[in-house]
Amino acid sequence: MPNNKTSEPSDSAPPLVRFDAVQKTFDGENLVVKDLNLTIHQGEFVTLLGPSGSGKTTCLMMLAGFEVPTNGDIYLGTQRLNSVPPHKRNFGMVFQNYALFPHMTVEENIRYPLKTRKVPAAEADRKVAEILDMIKLGEFARRRPTQLSGGQQQRVALARALVFEPQLILMDEPLGALDKQLREHMQLEIKQLHEQLGLTVVFVTHDQSEALTMSDRVAVFDDGIIQQIDTPSNLYEYPANAFVAQFIGENN
Ligand code: ADP
Repeated sequence: MPNNKTSEPSDSAPPLVRFDAVQKTFDGENLVVKDLNLTIHQGEFVTLLGPSGSGKTTCLMMLAGFEVPTNGDIYLGTQRLNSVPPHKRNFGMVFQNYALFPHMTVEENIRYPLKTRKVPAAEADRKVAEILDMIKLGEFARRRPTQLSGGQQQRVALARALVFEPQLILMDEPLGALDKQLREHMQLEIKQLHEQLGLTVVFVTHDQSEALTMSDRVAVFDDGIIQQIDTPSNLYEYPANAFVAQFIGENN
């Protein structure tokens, strides 16, 4: 039966990230992530989906390194990540409010992660030009973020997260501030980049249709627990329990 709770992708791509019995407690008593076991494979697009307050962002923050698990371990390949600081994880991040630098142009914003990594200028030039072309923002290279629309700004944030070719991209509600039409357009764009570049993406949203459209697998959260993790079609056809059936069914 395809409705088991830990269904893995059919191809056997190597595991990249592993949460092993991870728990997170805030303020000594508020257990918001209860027992997280999750493996994300190289090249996968995995979405953490669930209602507000279910623990999705806390999981992403632990993966990013901004929060430390109270119990359990997080691995990147064979490396235990628990207390590796964010800047040493080298992940690309796109958050709803992960603002661009307002005093820098589009091009300077995108170049910034290469500068901090001391990438030689000629190579940085080439990478910035390549990514500007890929996200179709070349003509805006010399503008500042305030001179761009919300969708264009989010594209720049995406370019800034991709330009240093991170092994993992983390996105938390990156399209939450956009109107419906632009949101749907950006969903397709991100999905295309994922496929073209073979990216591994961990994406957080509370929007069922966004999760089902974009993901290889979706982890459905409720109350700090993954209720089911599976492909979009299996979640839809074989929900593991009443919560998943009801939550996946909403707005569809
Ligand atoms: P989601 O992303 O699913 O909306 P979160 O992971 O943001 O959920 O939050 C889960 C719970 O943890 C919420 O009750 C939230 O108030 C609490 N929480 C999140 N971050 C903190 C924090 N830094 N300190 C205390 N409580 C927090």
